Amino acid sequence: MSASAGAEAPGSDEIPTFSLALNQDQRDIRDWVHGFAANVVRPAAADWDEREETPWPIIQEAAKIGLYSFEGMAQLHADPTGVTMAIANEELFWGDAGIGMAIMGTSLAVASIFGSGTPAQMGEFIPQCFGTPEQPRVASFCVSEPDAGSDVSALRTTAKYDEAKDEWVINGQKAWATNGGIASIHVVVATVDRALGSRGQAAFVIPPDTPGLTQGTKVRKHGLRASHTADVFLDDCRVPGSCLLGGKEKLDAKLARAREGGRSNSQAAMQTFEVTRPTVGAQAIGIARAAYEYALDYAKQRKQFGRAIISNQAIAFTLADMKLEIDAARLLVWRASWMGRTGQRFTAAEGSMSKLKAGEVAVWATERAIQILGGNGYTREYPVERWHRDAKIYTIFEGTSEIQRLVIARAISGVQIA
Ligand SMILES: Cc1cc2nc3c(=O)[nH]c(=O)nc-3n(C[C@H](O)[C@H](O)[C@H](O)COP(=O)(O)OP(=O)(O)OC[C@H]3O[C@@H](n4cnc5c(N)ncnc54)[C@H](O)[C@@H]3O)c2cc1C
Repeated sequence: MSASAGAEAPGSDEIPTFSLALNQDQRDIRDWVHGFAANVVRPAAADWDEREETPWPIIQEAAKIGLYSFEGMAQLHADPTGVTMAIANEELFWGDAGIGMAIMGTSLAVASIFGSGTPAQMGEFIPQCFGTPEQPRVASFCVSEPDAGSDVSALRTTAKYDEAKDEWVINGQKAWATNGGIASIHVVVATVDRALGSRGQAAFVIPPDTPGLTQGTKVRKHGLRASHTADVFLDDCRVPGSCLLGGKEKLDAKLARAREGGRSNSQAAMQTFEVTRPTVGAQAIGIARAAYEYALDYAKQRKQFGRAIISNQAIAFTLADMKLEIDAARLLVWRASWMGRTGQRFTAAEGSMSKLKAGEVAVWATERAIQILGGNGYTREYPVERWHRDAKIYTIFEGTSEIQRLVIARAISGVQIA
């Protein structure tokens, strides 16, 4: 099957297509990541969830096999159909979402440097995001603030240029930063001209050990507890001019266009989110699939009224629906992954569709799994309660479900729905 249903392809006749029968490279990577998830991640999951600490030894294991490295990420990204990134994320998060996020959280900052940085900035900063297999490091992407969550245009963190020293001075507070305060590299989005809203914002790399950056409260969370989340304070934090991603000339040109009332770049920003959201959706599918598989096995084993509980339609149909919803969500994720990688135009916010569906399926499927396990499902002796806690974040971060619906509704209607 070609993956072109509903998509528009401006320009090229040579668009890589993917087959639902995965190619050898895709199968190899899937099996490689699955092996790591099954043998290293899942056995450690409950422990790190209880400890609520960054699982450095597991990150190190991932670095040693090359999964946690720039080369590893680049290998996942290299697939011209875009589907391999989704496959790898599904497998890793099938193992455990908390540890999965501890490993993949760095990729948000890397994607920002990769997407907005100059070649020199990529060469300098991306390796520092990962560290080495002997001493792995993590990176943090800090956008959200206490008063700017869904409304990113309301950021208050400021960046002021000190021309005499060719330095940027950053002040503000970031909230909810994955790896915030423990990262080597923090990428911080700040406003340089508040009157311009999101068009007056820029992203800055804060190099390791920069004075003025401190970690605030570490957040104690409902799920994803092996992934570190914290506030980050920026107090007269000075970084060299070379830390502005993309460089000053580009920023000045962007600001000048915005001040002249030129075309809004919100369309471009939307396209960027559409490209990254399917990967997040794939993570949610990994959790949902873990719960479905576990519940299916359990339902075949568990006997009540003299027969396996799966013999009851109430249970069997629930499992059928779980399989159905998970597969449907995966198809949306793969379509959007393919669209993003091959440069298709997202006419109906297909990236948002995939993340929305996958996140909601993960919450629903993990809740159903608890129900199928009965009392056992409600205990920490079984993993499904953890998967349910982990799944919930997928309707909140990277754009809440409401914001995804807003984006889709605007895309399909052309109306600026509030
Ligand atoms: C575990 C975790 C990790 C995170 N990691 C990061 C990170 O690494 N970097 C980072 O920058 N941020 C991160 N975040 C922040 C995350 O992106 C935000 O929590 C999210 O964007 C929602 O913002 P908020 O929490 O302020 O909710 P709010 O924006 O206050 O939303 C509250 C509710 O109102 C609804 N709502 C808001 N506006 C509208 C509207 N216009 N229409 C309809 N409904 C609306 C929302 O959907 C939601 O239900 C993380 C959050 C968590 C919990």
